Amino acid sequence: MIDGPVWHPFTQHATEPAPPVVHRTGGAYLHTDRGRLIDAVSSWWVVTHGHRHPPIMDAIRDAADRLDQVIFAGLTHEPAERLAAALVRLAPEGLSRVFYSDSGSTAVEVALKMALGYWRAADRGEARHRIVVMDHSYHGDTIGTMSVGERGVFNAAYGPLMFDVDSIPFPQGDGGATLDAFRALAQGGQIAALIVEPLILGSGGMLMYDPGVLAGLRQICNDHGVLMIADEVMTGWGRTGRLWACDHAGIAPDILCTSKGLTGGAVPLAATLACEKVYQAHYSTDRARTFFHSSSYTANPIACAAAVANVAIWEAAGMQPVLDRVAAMQAQRLAVVAARPGWENPRQLGTIAAIDLTAAAGGYLAQEGPAMRAHFLDRGVLLRPLGNTVYVMPPYCVTDDDMDEIWGAIASYR
Ligand SMILES: *Cc1c(COP(=O)(O)O)cnc(C)c1O
Repeated sequence: MIDGPVWHPFTQHATEPAPPVVHRTGGAYLHTDRGRLIDAVSSWWVVTHGHRHPPIMDAIRDAADRLDQVIFAGLTHEPAERLAAALVRLAPEGLSRVFYSDSGSTAVEVALKMALGYWRAADRGEARHRIVVMDHSYHGDTIGTMSVGERGVFNAAYGPLMFDVDSIPFPQGDGGATLDAFRALAQGGQIAALIVEPLILGSGGMLMYDPGVLAGLRQICNDHGVLMIADEVMTGWGRTGRLWACDHAGIAPDILCTSKGLTGGAVPLAATLACEKVYQAHYSTDRARTFFHSSSYTANPIACAAAVANVAIWEAAGMQPVLDRVAAMQAQRLAVVAARPGWENPRQLGTIAAIDLTAAAGGYLAQEGPAMRAHFLDRGVLLRPLGNTVYVMPPYCVTDDDMDEIWGAIASYR
């Protein structure tokens, strides 16, 4: 049972034990009142290089000496301008405009609004508004982002408020059925946009599919004028072994959402990148075509400065060997656990590794989840299984010894 005024996210206060208190972070570790934890989930997928990564913390300190929040309508500032220029350089080709917000959910909301705004633009003649989504997807917890995500126990209560979407199956094998389903929908001429998590569905259970399928979806979007939105909120900043998951397929979406690793995970920030035609649809002497969206903390200068420092790390080269090293450490240990009885479906994409307990079905609410979490916590490892899927998504500074501890804790559960 958890007491006190704090209401924690995704937490059942009636049944869960009081959480450890974190008093200091650094590298791959969380130092708590119960000892050191290895952060094997990068604090919900946000921390990329490591906690309190020095160049990023320096940038935050330096920016805080000069700037705090500044209204971003009618004013601008250097960290936001520099970051936008860098994002355009690093992003897949053709993404030329950068709109700031402050979380993955808002980045996705912005993407959906941009897509609808594009189709609303008067000279286009057809106000398409339907969105196609992939089964098992997750795009956030606001009403709009839940609408384009998997429906289930997490959002059943809010169903009456959600909008209708069209869905395509999660790709199996070469993804033929998924592509056929999407083509059929696109041919109907009503589809404004497709939104996908490229190559790996995170919250859906670390489900992975082939880059060829992503390329196939892009082609169908081209054939039928459908906008492609890539939700790279989890996959961006190297998680899949490349800077962007889209890079594996050699494609560029029309709209790209990034957040979690954008500041290296130090402070909240998000960006929605758009291609020129989406921007131009809102560029007009007609004020009604303005993109009407803002949040109070849009382009927070301190967050932008943190992101500028992060982007500098990626632009300096030298990140590929770091990602390759994490991927190799994961592969070796995943194979060991996969060879043990009681585990199945080992899978890996870059720095992300996942494996399923061969438990009886039971979905996310199965009792196994809390039991596993407690087991790992006792061994000094922070993991949050998704149903019977255990995944490891560490900060890139993780060491061989850390990895041994993480996977040792996993192996010891069965
Ligand atoms: C985490 C996540 C989001 C939502 O991001 P928040 O910052 O939690 O709002 C959206 N899409 C994907 C793919 C995510 O993993």
